[in-house]
Order: sequence, then C-alpha cells, then structure tokens
Amino acid sequence: MKNVVFIAPPAAGKGTHSNKLKEKYGYEHISTGDLLRNEINNKTEIGKKVKAVIDAGNLVEDDIIIKILESNLKSIAGKLFVLDGFPRNLNQAKKLTEIFKKLNIDYEVIFLLIDEQEAMKRTLGRIVCSCGKSYNIFNEDFKPKVEGICDVCNSKLVKRDDDNEESFKVRFQTFLKNNEPILEYYKKLDKLNVITVNKHSKFVFEDIEEVINGNY
Ligand code: ADP
Repeated sequence: MKNVVFIAPPAAGKGTHSNKLKEKYGYEHISTGDLLRNEINNKTEIGKKVKAVIDAGNLVEDDIIIKILESNLKSIAGKLFVLDGFPRNLNQAKKLTEIFKKLNIDYEVIFLLIDEQEAMKRTLGRIVCSCGKSYNIFNEDFKPKVEGICDVCNSKLVKRDDDNEESFKVRFQTFLKNNEPILEYYKKLDKLNVITVNKHSKFVFEDIEEVINGNY
C-alpha cells in the first residue's frame, strides 16, 4: 500500500478519510491542522504565535509548519502514513519532495474535488472532538449518536474557532489561489489522482482504496 498526501479545500473530507485509513489499514495520520491546534492547546510559543492566524483562516508561515512536519515524519519513519493538510502552496510542495527524497519515501497525491457551496455547508456543520474524530450536524451519516457527545470517547463536541463563514471564505480563496500550481506540479511528477466527493462517503473511500492499491 502507498503513503497518501491529501490535497483539498476545507471540509472536503481529508480528516474523515484519513481516519478511515487509520482504522482500516493502520495508517499513521499526520494532520498539520491538528499539529498546530495541539501547539495552541498546549500554549507553546508556536501556539501563541499561530492562534490568530489560524482563526482568521490564513496560512501559518512555511518555515514553522515545515519544521513541525519534518520532525513528525522522522518520528514515524518506516510506517505507512497519510498526510492531511500539507502542502498548501507550491513552496511547501517542493519542500515536501525534498523531505521525501531525503527520507526515501514514496507516495501518491489525492486531490478531493468539492465545490465551494458544499464545502461551506460542511464547514459550518462540523463539530469536533479533542480525540480527533469529527462529525457533521447537517449530514445524517456523520451525526453523533448522542447530540453533542463523541461516539468514541464520550467527550463533549465543540465547534472549531475557525469554522465560521468569514474564516471559511478566506481559507477557500487561499486554497483556490494556491491550488492550481500545486496540481500542475504533481501532474508533472505523475503523482496526481483526482477524486470527486459529491457522492456517498463510502464510494469516495472506495476510490481512495483503489489509489493506495495502485489501481486508480
Ligand atoms: P481545513 O482543512 O478545514 O482548513 P486544517 O485543520 O487542515 O483545516 O487547517 C486549519 C488551519 O491550520 C489552516 O487554515 C491554516 O491556518 C493552518 N494550517 C494547516 N496546515 C497548514 C500548512 N500546511 N501551511 C500553513 N498553514 C497550515
């Protein structure tokens, strides 16, 4: 099976499908958003620096996130992983190629294609647990069994500080601006797999399984 790099706008399903890869196949899930939110929750120097940037929907400086990511990738050396939330611009994509070369890592890129209206609806309906599981109050398949409570660990579900309309719009526009060069870059490297997500989540996951098995 192949390592996966997910590229997608906010709320396209990177986190959900990463979790499924983890549950079903034992993938390590590296979410750069989660890594940054951990820094914020632990009130580290980095956390203090990035909180306002993230809440407003802007990108954290490349140097900060690259450093965090590289040490994380080193710590799981040799394990199968899915990378969720990186790269988000061409500089990060090039840097990632360098890191992968250095660590001798092969991978496939999966682009989850979603339109803005659907992504906004999903973002505004998202509630999350500190254990990493995420739910959606607008989608029957993704509602928690008990309102406001995590199915897995019984903790209280909360809205992310950046899951509001204003921050979503900034994130989506940033994504549109940066995404084209990234897709071109991976097309040239022959690493790009495009999956549309306007279908039931289980069919999206089936397509993802085709990619990790080298059949897409
Ligand atoms: P979403 O996919 O819903 O936007 P994420 O959890 O992936 O949520 O990211 C949340 C925020 O964390 C981003 O809006 C950004 O501020 C920051 N972030 C995550 N990954 C990166 C990255 N690769 N480069 C810069 N900032 C990032």
